Amino acid sequence: MSTINTEFDYIIIGGGSAGCVLANRLSADSKNRVCLLETGPNDKTPLVSIPIGIIGLMDSKKYNWMFNSQPESSQHDRTIYCPRGKVLGGSSAVNAMLYTRGTPSDYDQWASLGNEGWGYNDILPYFKSTQHQERGASDFHGTEGELNVAEGRSNHPLGETLLAACRQAGYQDNNDFNGAQQEGIGYYQVTQINGERCSAARAFLHPISQRQNLTIITEARVARIQLENKQAQGVEYQQKDKLHTLTASKEVILCAGTFCSPQLLMLSGIGPEEELKQHRIPVKHHLAGVGSNLQEHIDIITVNESKKANSVALRPVGMVKMLKEIALYMNQRKGFLTTSIVETGGFIKSKPELKDPDMQLQFIPLVMDDHGRKKSTLLTYGYSLHNCLLRPKSRGRVSLHNSDFLKDPKIELNMLSHPDDLAAMVDAVKINLNIFSQPAFDDGRGKSIFPHQKNPSDQEIEQFVREKANHVYHPVGTCKMGNDKDAVVNDRLQVHGISGLRVVDASIMPTLVGGNTNSPTIMIAAKAADMILADHCSS
Ligand SMILES: Cc1cc2nc3c(=O)[nH]c(=O)nc-3n(C[C@H](O)[C@H](O)[C@H](O)COP(=O)(O)OP(=O)(O)OC[C@H]3O[C@@H](n4cnc5c(N)ncnc54)[C@H](O)[C@@H]3O)c2cc1C
Repeated sequence: MSTINTEFDYIIIGGGSAGCVLANRLSADSKNRVCLLETGPNDKTPLVSIPIGIIGLMDSKKYNWMFNSQPESSQHDRTIYCPRGKVLGGSSAVNAMLYTRGTPSDYDQWASLGNEGWGYNDILPYFKSTQHQERGASDFHGTEGELNVAEGRSNHPLGETLLAACRQAGYQDNNDFNGAQQEGIGYYQVTQINGERCSAARAFLHPISQRQNLTIITEARVARIQLENKQAQGVEYQQKDKLHTLTASKEVILCAGTFCSPQLLMLSGIGPEEELKQHRIPVKHHLAGVGSNLQEHIDIITVNESKKANSVALRPVGMVKMLKEIALYMNQRKGFLTTSIVETGGFIKSKPELKDPDMQLQFIPLVMDDHGRKKSTLLTYGYSLHNCLLRPKSRGRVSLHNSDFLKDPKIELNMLSHPDDLAAMVDAVKINLNIFSQPAFDDGRGKSIFPHQKNPSDQEIEQFVREKANHVYHPVGTCKMGNDKDAVVNDRLQVHGISGLRVVDASIMPTLVGGNTNSPTIMIAAKAADMILADHCSS
């Protein structure tokens, strides 16, 4: 195998939500030589740029890692599908584009765990500075940033029915889930620009890809981080069956996401000693918490059939409508091709005494099953409502199947392993069924598909949850920030015990935020870039 040696100041592993932001910020000073390595290809495909392409991306081996979790008894021995973006833009190139941030108390909790500089007042400026809010600037929103935040341009009529039913069930309207309060129901804002997806690559990388001091290498899989005397020296990566080595004079920054970042640390000899020895990986640094603390928004979808032709379905009449939608998109960048699939929903409290919402509703105007991969369900008219638990107590972990860097990481979600999560999900189903039973849905309401019983008992709902509960693609926490024995990085995101190496992505979140995780990850990366530049300015 031939080997090329090249030196950079900063090597960024992974061109996803975090990696694109870092590539942008670190290369802004032309003196910094920055290299971004991404396993996936470039993102020049309509599947990524046209929002409805998300349906194709769910099943695309080319642009999606398509991981599966281990079967676990708490999940009725099911493996759970875990899509992740494998393309420039990472998961922001395949996600549902909803722009939400969580609540102030999510970040104040990070600070209260000893992470200085991560309280809400510290991080709000980064949400604002990375954002271009089309509604204009406010105390909560910025207009000078790269990530375009827009109103949806699709708005399926059933979304209005859902909102009417929610009002009838007692929920209040909220037109800004990222404003003064999160609680309420309404339309989601989306990371789109002129009806196209605004991934992290589109926002942060495309405009600067010509910078001479930035090298972007795609279809390059990092095999390991090279370490000498507990100092990161560079990386070894594979491209077209050849191994290459790059050296980093300042830092290696790991942005491979919640599943692949801990995997790469372990493959490089950083992780729980026992786990590394089991796979005959030389232990460079024992760090017990690598891969543990996996958290994910556990979710259940209730689905109802409709007797009317009022939803999205693969029927001849629907196909005719679709031709019109294609024309509308070509001419005006509007209509169903711009849909994020989830257009309406909101944040609710399962109990009124709670300080913050603990559940998130996401409505889909079609019959949904198996992450939209079961296309036969689309022959039926109907609608689906996700309800996800925002701060689950169950914890999973990521580890290795073996020492082969080309093998998928071993993912144990362990969802529903905490009894409180199971009880909460039973409540979530009841909340959904109550919303579906409101008068707004009377016109054309058909039978319940999931759960299939008419008035299910608590026991039947519990069984339904075990058999069907899933997640909403927000894994975090496997390289958590903190100072305790399980922490992997400190509050400057430097790996404990190793110099010249940081982890900057969703994996550093010590606790899961109560909202979707793309903009929080972008915020993390923008703050990390400031810290990295400050550290090297003063050194
Ligand atoms: C289907 C789906 C829907 C979602 N919907 C939403 C939503 O509507 N709103 C929202 O806010 N969030 C959503 N999310 C979550 C959000 O997109 C992620 O939390 C966020 O993108 C994570 O960013 P990251 O930088 O941590 O990881 P990623 O964006 O996943 O980036 C990691 C990158 O590293 C690359 N990589 C991995 N291993 C290697 C290696 N060995 N060498 C080189 N490169 C490597 C990967 O290919 C990838 O590009 C969704 C996610 C998915 C998958």
